[in-house]
Amino acid sequence: MNDREAILSPYGEGDGGTQHIREAIRTAIVERRLSPGTKLSESDVGSLFNVSRTLARAALQALSYEGLVRVERNRGAFVAYPSPEEARQIFAARQLVEPGILRQAAGNITSDDISRLKQLLADEGKLMNERGQTARRAEIKASGDFHLEISALSQNLVLHRFMEELIARSSLVIALYGRSTASSCGHNEHEHILECLAKNNIDAACQTMLHHIEHIEADLDLRERRGVSLKEAFEL
Ligand SMILES: [Zn+2]
Repeated sequence: MNDREAILSPYGEGDGGTQHIREAIRTAIVERRLSPGTKLSESDVGSLFNVSRTLARAALQALSYEGLVRVERNRGAFVAYPSPEEARQIFAARQLVEPGILRQAAGNITSDDISRLKQLLADEGKLMNERGQTARRAEIKASGDFHLEISALSQNLVLHRFMEELIARSSLVIALYGRSTASSCGHNEHEHILECLAKNNIDAACQTMLHHIEHIEADLDLRERRGVSLKEAFEL
């Protein structure tokens, strides 16, 4: 395992079997196969991953610390349903940390990394032109992966874990509040960031990253939605 692989899958063995459950559920959230509010029962998670309920509970608890799962007393665990305010905070956090991570990554990036990321963007581009759910999910995942590849290049495990959380939480927010069916990430902006990095123009790369995060947030409808009563729902 090289340094990059170690950062991309840092946990390895010895976590008592909960890590692969966490990653599988996190990926399902990123790909939007699991929607906000979905019930995650301990017994279903246990039988799906062939582990005890105790391990299933530990995995769900760990996901709740990441803000991806909400555990309710006597009701069990659910995929989180972020509020508009939480959504704003997630994007504010991304605005603060991602330029710093990018700067850090720029110091470590090699020409091989640039070629690999170019390939990732090319694959993402191809998926955008394909139809069907599977291609769509793979495309959503690929657009988040770009940000995670950058954070892996920062070679800072604390920041990388934080980014994994932020990308997964962003996916929940986009699933709930996204206005368009377009990709959550502007493909051209990823390309532009990479071009700037290739030219060692780090300030421009950071500036583009900030615009990029602004654009993702601008595509959300974060107005507070008040629940309607039964009576209001049936009023003509
Ligand atoms: Zn993006």
